[in-house]
Amino acid sequence: MGNNNGNYNPYHTAQAQFDRIADLIGLDEATRDLLRQPIREYHFTIPVRMDDGSVKIFRGYRVQHNDARGPAKGGIRFHPQETIDTIRALAMWMTWKCSVVDIPLGGGKGGVICDPHNLSDREQEQICRGWVRQIARDIGPYSDVPAPDVMTNAKHMLWMLDEYESIFGGRYPGFITGKPVGLGGSLGRKEATGFGLVAVLSEALKEQGIKLEDTTASIQGFGNVARYAALKYQDLGGHVIAVSCWDNNDKKSYTFVKKSGLDIEALMQITDPFGSIDKDKARDLGCEILDGDAWLAQDVDILIPAALENQINSSNVDTISRQVKIIAEGANGPTTLNADKVIRERGIFVIPDFLANAGGVTCSYFEQVQSNTNYYWEKEEVLSKLDIKMKSAFKAVYELAANKNLYMRDAAYVIAVNRVVQAVKSRGWV
Ligand code: NAD
Repeated sequence: MGNNNGNYNPYHTAQAQFDRIADLIGLDEATRDLLRQPIREYHFTIPVRMDDGSVKIFRGYRVQHNDARGPAKGGIRFHPQETIDTIRALAMWMTWKCSVVDIPLGGGKGGVICDPHNLSDREQEQICRGWVRQIARDIGPYSDVPAPDVMTNAKHMLWMLDEYESIFGGRYPGFITGKPVGLGGSLGRKEATGFGLVAVLSEALKEQGIKLEDTTASIQGFGNVARYAALKYQDLGGHVIAVSCWDNNDKKSYTFVKKSGLDIEALMQITDPFGSIDKDKARDLGCEILDGDAWLAQDVDILIPAALENQINSSNVDTISRQVKIIAEGANGPTTLNADKVIRERGIFVIPDFLANAGGVTCSYFEQVQSNTNYYWEKEEVLSKLDIKMKSAFKAVYELAANKNLYMRDAAYVIAVNRVVQAVKSRGWV
């Protein structure tokens, strides 16, 4: 699962997307220069004593792209092919994401180059604690608040919180989000990204005069985002006919298809903690198993890329079926610039990543508010606040796109970038 296949560089994509908007809104040189790169970056090493007694040195990063609108916010990814440019891109996208849903946070991202598939729990705990020790003074509840991302979860967040609290001698639950429920986590967080995606997807369908119950969808990925998007979409009457996932034994991905509609809950029962579905058991459930890219070529109304960046690119964009009307980007940066151009020209309605998957950070923000006040809300309250935020962000972007005849991605960028520009200018930074 390379996230940096070939020459693809997500930071170049993020910067090119930004430059396009800077031109569109006529941004001055200094502001452009400030916003097209991170404000701060930290690169460090994390020595870990492994279970076999040897010591291994891991590389860790934290990037703060912009914090003019509030503390930086963004996940920590564990991935063997993680690169600083991927983290820069993701940090930049976080700034726009928090801005487009209008929550008072900036953008950050972190990572460690490692493969949790080959690490014991104890070794992963040491990486988490080591990461915090190296950066503790430069992050915190009022400056930069981390969260889980690919291959990290609530367990990792609690180890990180515990290390932070040991260093500073107190309880600071607002230091990190994505914590376990009952230990500072928010109800609804695990569902938030997927549910938020379906909230904006259903608004998009409404605007297009399409009944959700009459639609079919194909999803790339079967992790946190994909699963809850699939469950919610199915709950509302939609039919998921394909999902794909990575198979770490075969080192390739597969697509699981059932034209009459997949049973998402049954599939969840046969999926490992990394989001890989058991092929034999899936066959028993009546799934046809195809190659990894096949999810993109299905005759469906809706595509939801929810795995990694760089997944819809010039080598496969032409396989998208003529039936596809909407692409809701669950992953960050799933579409390359070239592929995006093709999709735009074909007139497919795109709900861009930093809007479509903003439910996660919105709920993280709710978690932070609850943690900082030490008062926790009921799940219904969390999810209804999430629904309101997502739908109002969608409405603002949709209206701008319609009024100014803009591509949805550009409209979302214009709103997000303008808010950050206003913050840096009001603060007197430029
Ligand atoms: P996850 O680790 O829970 O799941 C990732 C899934 O993608 C797994 O099912 C894995 O098998 C699959 N996958 C990996 N490589 C693949 C490939 N080449 N082909 C097909 N499937 C592949 O991760 P997640 O939390 O669901 O995140 C998915 C994406 O959404 C990432 O881009 C992440 O940055 C983004 N995102 C996540 C959240 C969140 O709240 N979890 C919020 C916003 C954005």
